[in-house]
Amino acid sequence: MQENPSKAATESKTPGDGQDDASHATGRTPACGVSDATGRTPARSVSPTVATILEHNAAFVASKGYERYQTDKYPEKKLAIVSCMDTRLTELLLAALGLKNGDAKIIKVAGAEVAHPFGSVMRSLLIAVCELGVEDVMIVAHTNCGAQHMSGEEMVHDMRRLGVSDERISLARHCGIDFDRWLAGFGDTEESVRRSVDVVRNHPVMPPHVRITGFVMDSVTGELVQVTCP
Ligand SMILES: [Zn+2]
Repeated sequence: MQENPSKAATESKTPGDGQDDASHATGRTPACGVSDATGRTPARSVSPTVATILEHNAAFVASKGYERYQTDKYPEKKLAIVSCMDTRLTELLLAALGLKNGDAKIIKVAGAEVAHPFGSVMRSLLIAVCELGVEDVMIVAHTNCGAQHMSGEEMVHDMRRLGVSDERISLARHCGIDFDRWLAGFGDTEESVRRSVDVVRNHPVMPPHVRITGFVMDSVTGELVQVTCP
């Protein structure tokens, strides 16, 4: 996927474009279009955080820090996991499950929800199954999830506070979706996991051999509790 360099600094990659490594794994414009690994592309203005990341990245590549992570695109355990973007789970998820780089396709999304049968999460799972050999899908939500009790009304209030005009909010409410519902949280965690398992398990084009299971992880201890799904 090529990006428009003039927009790259503020827009980065389209959310949920789901390209993964099933295609275009090489030759892609570096994330944010800032510079490639060799630093040859002129750098755009970046935040101090991103500047520090870029500095680390250059040292990482130069010292061949990547060597211990090398693997291929096929998940060794034929496993895909849908989990939450929560920062508490960034390393905890893999550590608590005994997984390492190369073992599983990990799809991170707020609330670990497969919210739409034809959304980017579901598309990623179909790619994982049909193109990359995945046979097991785990939906892993977690306790005290930030996405659980989100209110569409409160988020709209926060959008206004952050400078989004009423005109733009009104525009979003006329884009063919229930905007406030789309922003809202999922409520009951186990019920949300059941809904996601149901979407994947009963998807019309999901191959029948794939096993789909649901869990809730303790955000502190990493303990995994299976959710009973009918
Ligand atoms: Zn969460």
